[in-house]
Amino acid sequence: MLSYRHGFHAGNHADVLKHSLIALVVQALKQKDKPFVYIDTHAGAGKYALKSQFSQKTGEYQQGIGRLWTNSQALPELKDYLGAIRAENTGGELLRYPGSPQLVRRLIRNQDRMLLSELHGTDYDTLYQLFVQDKQVSVAKEDGLLMLEKKLPPIQKRGLILIDPSYEIKSDYTKVVQTLENAYRRFATGIYALWYPVIDRGVTEKMHQRFIASAIPRQLRIEQSICADGAVRGMTGSGMLFINPPWQLHDQALTLLPWLNQVLTDGQGQWQVKWQVPELIA
Ligand code: SAM
Repeated sequence: MLSYRHGFHAGNHADVLKHSLIALVVQALKQKDKPFVYIDTHAGAGKYALKSQFSQKTGEYQQGIGRLWTNSQALPELKDYLGAIRAENTGGELLRYPGSPQLVRRLIRNQDRMLLSELHGTDYDTLYQLFVQDKQVSVAKEDGLLMLEKKLPPIQKRGLILIDPSYEIKSDYTKVVQTLENAYRRFATGIYALWYPVIDRGVTEKMHQRFIASAIPRQLRIEQSICADGAVRGMTGSGMLFINPPWQLHDQALTLLPWLNQVLTDGQGQWQVKWQVPELIA
């Protein structure tokens, strides 16, 4: 049974990191006219009401997007991401947060497509309703990792794949490695973005060791912690592992992460941007 609901966490520091980087990748994909597909294996509800019981119970968004959505000094790297947030909240109050599907939907062009899957019944229904009239978006209630296997390689031959599980089950940390190895074999030129939490540092590093030992080249790790490992119960940070990122992303992240660290943690957090497996050298 699925107990995780993203509504409790929408707009928190981890979403800010994940979604601002995804917006940069979409921006890079749009530099060519050729269509691309965006695949979101764990899509969630699509968008979230921040005055809901869920959001109000944790208040996590206030320490995340709440800290930067109106910041007039925000970096150019955040233009598309914050543009999408502001477009959801035109009345001057932060009431709604676009999850990854709604964020990307705001950024793609007519020629691009989206494939989403979500297993939780209620979140699936919300997601389905959000896009039911939208010919560019397909929504499936099925295991996102199985859906991914069926859809690769995509007909467009260009694509961004977001894999964003909730890691409720420990085996998710190994499953994502196997999934990415299989996906890479089917579609080696795709851009892959895996989100992961930092809850237990040992578990996080073990997952990265498995990736390093895999045959997958071009792995860029971008991570942000809001406090020291283990300083509080639960998630102290999060990261994104990109495979085949656009060439600009490394340098953009080097600009973005120190700024986010300042705004989200008053400079008390930590961050890293590193190629954990570089380009294949022939
Ligand atoms: N990607 C979303 C975003 O950034 O707005 C957040 C997704 S949330 C972290 C993870 C979601 O995956 C939850 O809504 C959960 O119900 C869903 N889920 C869990 N296991 C799944 C599976 N095997 N296939 C598809 N969705 C799954």
